[in-house]
Amino acid sequence: MRLTHWIDGQARDAGDGQWLNVHDPATGRAYAQVARGTAGDARLAVEAAGRAFPGWSALPSFERARWLERLADAIEARLDAFAQAESLDGGKPITLARDIEIPRAISNLRFFAHAATQFASESHHGQAGLNYTLRQPLGVVGTISPWNLPLYLFTWKIAPALAAGNTVVAKPSEVTPRTASMLGEIAAAIGMPPGVLNIVHGVGPEVGEVLVADSDVKAVSFTGSTQVGRRIATLAAPQLKKVSLELGGKNPTLVFADSRWREHLPTIVRSAFQNSGQICLCGSRILVERPIYDAFRDALVERANALRIGEPADPATELGPLVSQAHFDKVIAAIARARDEGGRIWCGGEALRRPGWFVAPTVIDGLGPDCASNREEIFGPVATLQPFDSEDDALALANAVDYGLSASIWTGNLDRAHRLAADIHAGIVWINTWMMRDLRTPFGGRGQSGLGSEGGMEAMRFFTEPKNVGIALQRR
Ligand code: NAD
Repeated sequence: MRLTHWIDGQARDAGDGQWLNVHDPATGRAYAQVARGTAGDARLAVEAAGRAFPGWSALPSFERARWLERLADAIEARLDAFAQAESLDGGKPITLARDIEIPRAISNLRFFAHAATQFASESHHGQAGLNYTLRQPLGVVGTISPWNLPLYLFTWKIAPALAAGNTVVAKPSEVTPRTASMLGEIAAAIGMPPGVLNIVHGVGPEVGEVLVADSDVKAVSFTGSTQVGRRIATLAAPQLKKVSLELGGKNPTLVFADSRWREHLPTIVRSAFQNSGQICLCGSRILVERPIYDAFRDALVERANALRIGEPADPATELGPLVSQAHFDKVIAAIARARDEGGRIWCGGEALRRPGWFVAPTVIDGLGPDCASNREEIFGPVATLQPFDSEDDALALANAVDYGLSASIWTGNLDRAHRLAADIHAGIVWINTWMMRDLRTPFGGRGQSGLGSEGGMEAMRFFTEPKNVGIALQRR
């Protein structure tokens, strides 16, 4: 299987005919190839998007909304095919792809179709004549997305960009390019105007950086690692280019003795291990009030050990492999480092003896907040436990990292929950729940977790620029 670019409504090979292997994480074997994009391919896509911009931005917003709805309908009609492709590509359990992530990608398209028709600007009257603010699309924008939620995060960016009237050059992750390619194929099949949505595959330094540096690309929305986010900020800065950076996390889960933690345990376990811990919002540092520490740890370990690890295509599977050899090596090295730091491994701690990149769910304790294991993102099925003695102690531990993406607080004391929610250094806080998403809410990290905010009208604002128009009104 060969996955091509989609540029100007056409399938295209890489300019210099190079391909990259795409692997099945459950076996480690290459099952497809994807175009290894070049700077020339990125340029072609930017030019196509530039030609499409005047027509697309001039469409009435309800027409753009209809295109997004048609894309959503087309994915929905092929939901099983998309779910199977995503599951094979990323090693994701099929139920997770079919029941949650592909439906959420469809919801992104539908949500921003509505947003296109509801997006309004302000006017200010009475102080100095009449002022009204236009919110105009930026032009050609670039989106760069990661492998962990491939179609979900791809649509999270392209949907608001298109809804606001921009044309897009999108670079999916080279590790999981399949469903973005399918989307390109669908966009062409439903007759979406050529050049409005262009998909360029390839590796970051060869294609992503070219997009960021291209002066015809007016903004870049990036989701991925903090390290690459910094590189993108550096490349964009000389042009004063608008960037949105959604980066890594090391999210705390705060479990108080007064919570109904036994009842919530399935969700807390999911928050640590869903998608093998490869979700930026996973709670990888579990902080537990000392009186329940031992009981909580034992119950957590029992549940982690009971997670069904297996073939991603099997509907009974709860935990699949890690996405790539490189990522597997990184997670195994992080576990070895935790051992070296003096961590005690209560379960997992090793690869499974089978083909593919499977790592057993791992729970580690005995490490303080200064250890690398408690400071650096691992992005695998690895959670650490730390005890705390008071609310202040819990807050200090929660904030003892440079990241600030999300947190979950488990307590029966609502005063405490709200106090902590205000003080935790994070862009998203959940109380007695995890991953409760409402597409209208802002989404973004603080500190090393990113810059700017996406989601809902925040995304529509990112992909537009305000222009104020002032009109003098003659006094009577
Ligand atoms: P990554 O940074 O390696 O790659 C992300 C994307 O950037 C890929 O498409 C890649 O090809 C591209 N890229 C790589 N180098 C580039 C460069 N020099 N210039 C331009 N583009 C470049 O991240 P990943 O390994 O694909 O994803 C995992 C990371 O993403 C984790 O750190 C995770 O926390 C983060 N993430 C964050 C969020 C969020 O919303 N905050 C969501 C999902 C994932």
